[in-house]
Amino acid sequence: MIVAEIRRFVDREVIPVAHELERNDTYPVDLIEKLKVLGVFSATIPEAYGGLGCDFLTYVQIVEELARGWMSLSGIVNTHVLVAHMIQQYGTEEQRQRFLPVMAQGDRRGGLCLSEASAGSDVQAIMMTARRDGDEYVLDGAKLWVTNGIHASIFAVLARTNPQARPPYRGMSIFLVEKGTPGLSAGRTFEKLGYKGVDTAELVFEQVRVPAANLLGGVEGAGFKHAMGGLEVGRINVAARAVGIAQAAFNDSIRYAQQRVAFGEPIAHHQAIQMKLADMATKIEAARLLLQKAAAKKDSGGRCDLEAGMAKLFASEMCQEVTLEALRIHGGFGYTKEFNVERYYRDAPFMLVGEGTSEIQRLIIARQLLQQYAID
Ligand SMILES: Cc1cc2nc3c(=O)[nH]c(=O)nc-3n(C[C@H](O)[C@H](O)[C@H](O)COP(=O)(O)OP(=O)(O)OC[C@H]3O[C@@H](n4cnc5c(N)ncnc54)[C@H](O)[C@@H]3O)c2cc1C
Repeated sequence: MIVAEIRRFVDREVIPVAHELERNDTYPVDLIEKLKVLGVFSATIPEAYGGLGCDFLTYVQIVEELARGWMSLSGIVNTHVLVAHMIQQYGTEEQRQRFLPVMAQGDRRGGLCLSEASAGSDVQAIMMTARRDGDEYVLDGAKLWVTNGIHASIFAVLARTNPQARPPYRGMSIFLVEKGTPGLSAGRTFEKLGYKGVDTAELVFEQVRVPAANLLGGVEGAGFKHAMGGLEVGRINVAARAVGIAQAAFNDSIRYAQQRVAFGEPIAHHQAIQMKLADMATKIEAARLLLQKAAAKKDSGGRCDLEAGMAKLFASEMCQEVTLEALRIHGGFGYTKEFNVERYYRDAPFMLVGEGTSEIQRLIIARQLLQQYAID
């Protein structure tokens, strides 16, 4: 029911305004208010904490629908849900009670602060530190690329609590830092190829004091593991966004192919176009099945690095291919802002980078396979 409701919402309220919002690079305040009412920000938060308590299999369908309308909208939801999941999965009961009910309402949204200027793929290379001082920790450093960096108000921040730890991941912890904490400020924001309307910001932490009660899970040294657990949700989410963008590109293409006439007949009658449409639909369906398999594995408990990695890798590469084919099918018009396909084409590359690049997904997949097929 909720997926059907989101689908109707996307058709009626998102698609008609997406083009304008993206062209003006406008943060979608009105749509966010409507998403709050629909309960999207609370989708995976358990009912006990004021959420809808959806499983991930349902959640990925919601994300796919949102991305079909406008990928940026699904991006605003993604990091929020990821941070809520980390609190639910790894937080103390006190942290769950304190943060999840307010996050479920959608007024206070989450942001994820892992990457830094010199540490993206190599998360263990982060420089941010958190030093214990009595009942508080003092955070120093800067985070880059923070989605929702300006509009979010609860940040999950990865920092080194023991900079001497070897390997470094053993000395990392995650802190829940609230907007307005003295010393936390926004640095530069980025103008991007696509993914418009969503803030991608630098956050600067200068002697930011947070209560020790904001250390996720209450134990030092578990932050890297918590981050990787959260990124599984992020990767499933990006796969869902990729399927949503590709589905939109396919929908527009199969309609256009039946309307556009060349050489005396609709281009959909030309077999070369039919083959493109067949390949596009087949790839989308294959990506969707991988996505659903990963979501189901996540729902069954435990880690799903392999499944999430495969879904993210395949879906994001597929999205890149399908949006290019959509552009070709639209001919010269596809290259203009008269049609939405150029937006899909610009939104697709971020799917290849966000929550870990394709190269990193391949490394994750290979590591899992080598464990699974180890011969000694
Ligand atoms: C729009 C946007 C939003 C983002 N939002 C967030 C966010 O909310 N929170 C957050 O923490 N981060 C966020 N990120 C950061 C994102 O996760 C990183 O950009 C991504 O992980 C890649 O890191 P990097 O940019 O440092 O590239 P690098 O790590 O420098 O990689 C550069 C290239 O080298 C390749 N490479 C690196 N290491 C290897 C290796 N071992 N083997 C093979 N190839 C390798 C990469 O695949 C890539 O092709 C965002 C990024 C963007 C662009």
